[in-house]
Amino acid sequence: MPELPEVETVRRGLAPAMEGQVIARAEVNRPDLRWPFPERMAERLTGQRVGLLRRRSKYILADLASGESLLVHLGMSGRMLVSGDPLGQFQHNHPAPEKHDHVVLHMGNGARITFNDPRRFGAMDLMPTAGAETHKLLASLGPEPLGNDFHEAHLVAALKGRNTPIKSALLDQRIVAGLGNIYVCEALYRAGIHPARKAGRISATRIAGLVPIIRNVLADAIEAGGSSLKDFRQADGELGYFQHSFDVYGREGEPCRRPGCDGTIGRIVQSGRSSFYCPRCQR
Ligand SMILES: [Zn+2]
Repeated sequence: MPELPEVETVRRGLAPAMEGQVIARAEVNRPDLRWPFPERMAERLTGQRVGLLRRRSKYILADLASGESLLVHLGMSGRMLVSGDPLGQFQHNHPAPEKHDHVVLHMGNGARITFNDPRRFGAMDLMPTAGAETHKLLASLGPEPLGNDFHEAHLVAALKGRNTPIKSALLDQRIVAGLGNIYVCEALYRAGIHPARKAGRISATRIAGLVPIIRNVLADAIEAGGSSLKDFRQADGELGYFQHSFDVYGREGEPCRRPGCDGTIGRIVQSGRSSFYCPRCQR
């Protein structure tokens, strides 16, 4: 499932093919994904020039000249494919249509953006750009972890007195938007905090220390995604998934990478999801 850095990488990959370009034709091949598409979606997209391509949490927002914004959520298995850009940045020929190509945007510059999603947990919606932040999927989101509103005082106040494990608290999208299982595991490892520790019982100093760590974990992953974009241009044009090297995520039973630590990465299940951690480094 793509997390914030993957979605940001997709946004960066789509931007050169979409920003400033007209959607010459929108092809909508089914009535819904996770939820029904908005009424007359193809019609409302066709002929629109795309302004900014933005990201809020794990959502991509394309601002259109009509005053509406297209919201795209990749869900569990959504993939974006860019092909045929005449600017030479994407040298891929248009692929043959595939079974789960649900929405295809034919751009005026010859690029083609294909949204393919076999499991259909993804979503698309249209909303007025003004007030987009009040959309049902965006309204209750907390601050962006890479934005100015996510700071030490915010996190300390948000976690004060909380009886939930720190892992669950950081996955709460009202506290910080866009963090998922993988990067919470990685951030807690870097911070030396055990995922089961009660959020409200961790010192304010350690909580404050999590803020730059969360930012760095995400920034590192976005940077890795950026280098994968270069490969993607030479490969198949698919955006969204790339190989990362994680310190703890998916490394159960393997040695801790911290110099001088002889711990073995462990795994516990919290709220039905795996938490990976080093029992020696994380307290
Ligand atoms: Zn360790």
